[in-house]
This record gives sequence, C-alpha cells and structure tokens, in this order.
Amino acid sequence: MRALPTLLFFLLLLGRAQCEEILRVEGYPRPGGVLFVTLEGLQGPWDGKALFGGKTYAFTEGPGGFELLLPISPEARDKAILLEVPLPSGRALERSVGIKPYRFAIQRLWLPASTEALYEHPYVEEEYRKIDKALLTFTPERQWKENFARPCSGGVRTDFGIRRITNGKPAGYHRGVDIAGAYGEPVYASNKGIVRLVSHTFQLHGKTVILDHGQGVMTLYIHLSSVQVREGDVVEKGDPIARVGSSGVSTGPHLHWGAYVQGEPIDPRLLFAVPRSWR
Ligand SMILES: [Zn+2]
Repeated sequence: MRALPTLLFFLLLLGRAQCEEILRVEGYPRPGGVLFVTLEGLQGPWDGKALFGGKTYAFTEGPGGFELLLPISPEARDKAILLEVPLPSGRALERSVGIKPYRFAIQRLWLPASTEALYEHPYVEEEYRKIDKALLTFTPERQWKENFARPCSGGVRTDFGIRRITNGKPAGYHRGVDIAGAYGEPVYASNKGIVRLVSHTFQLHGKTVILDHGQGVMTLYIHLSSVQVREGDVVEKGDPIARVGSSGVSTGPHLHWGAYVQGEPIDPRLLFAVPRSWR
C-alpha cells in the first residue's frame, strides 16, 4: 500500500513533464492575416524556430514566453497550414492551423503606356531591392506595444489585397491600404519603431518611410510629400513622421500604408486589434 502514493507522485511528475510547454496560437488565420504564437513554460535561453508552411521562423523572448508573429500570404489557398515547433527535449509541438477563406475584390486599372513602362525601368528594380531589404530586416526586440494606431485620419479608399488587372493583364495585389488624405496632412507613426528606410527619390513609391517595430513587423508609408525623420531615428506611436502627398506613381494625394511580417504583406488594419495577451 505504501507504493501507491509514490506511484501517484511519479504519475503526477510524468503528467507535468508531458504538458509543460504550451503553444498558444491567436490572431487572424486567413489569407493576408497574421498569427500571434506564444510558447509558454519553456525555460530559456533558447534560439528556437518554428516551421510554418515550408518556411522557418525564429522565436524571440518576450514577457509572456517565447513569441513569434507568423504571416499568412494573401495568396494562400491552403485549408490548413501545419505549425511545428521542435523543442530542446527532442519532442515537437504540432498544430494544424485552419485557414478561413477570404475573398479579395478585383480592380481593373488603365494606365498610360508611359506609366506602365516605368514599372520595367531598371531603377524601379533597384527601388524594390532596397524596400525588400529593409522589410526583411529582423530586429528581435519587440518595439511595438498595444494596438497599432491609424497613421492618418481619412477613410480607406482602396482595400488591402485587391487583385489588380492593369491594362488587361494580371498585376498582382494591393499590398496595403490607401487612406484618403489632403496634401500636406500629417502622417503619424502607427506604433513605436526604428526608422529603417527613408527615400526622397523613389520614382514608383515616391517619398517613402519604413518603420521597424521589432519581431519582424514593419510598417510602410509611401507617396509622401515630405519626410520628417531620418534612418535610425526611434519614433513613438503617434509621432508625426511625414506628410501626405502624391509623389511617385499616384493619381492624387493619399497615404498608401502597408504592414509586413517577416517580409510578407498582411492586412495592416488587423494590427488595430492585437490579441489581449500581447498588448
Ligand atoms: Zn496603395
């Protein structure tokens, strides 16, 4: 009979060891969405990674455990994507994340041949290279906190993810939202971040700012009329960083505002409501 309490104790220990690490997946599981993944109960340091949709993503250490934001491509067609987290013990946590269907609208645009030719210009390739490099910078420390804020006051004119057909040919999808704004109206940092890129000379995007909010989260502001920050500056949420304009290829004053997670565009408005446990 004396063996029974000992047996119970070991069973309890075994149970604890088996469910010590907990994977919490929150957010927006849909094309153009973002997942907020937390791994609780693992004692660091740990330079762990997750596999998600064939790509590898690095966790960072946060107040609630190891944290990771995962983008879901606006072009994803999967009904579910497998998330795998190999643990130091050799065990792996797995979660099949169901992806909710989402339908993006289609927009037909007609551009003059001279504007269309600009997209083929070697300079534009260079412009994209600089932007992609900035968007793929990975700053592990979380700079952002609480919900992201609207960068200017106007309403959304063109939605995120809209499929574009330019001069009768498929031309990708809209990688941000176009917010209405008057020429010269202030543009505010949507969260705390480090100014990762400033350009006054881009021909397609016009005057541009990219903010790095840490953990692979970036916001992009383009077609500006002027820029008030420099690369390397640290800005707080709500700080004025630029003014609305129509520079680059643009049909009138507006702010094109984009959000990216590890280089992948996500619907920026989802960042207005981050999961409560992450705020
Ligand atoms: Zn736009």
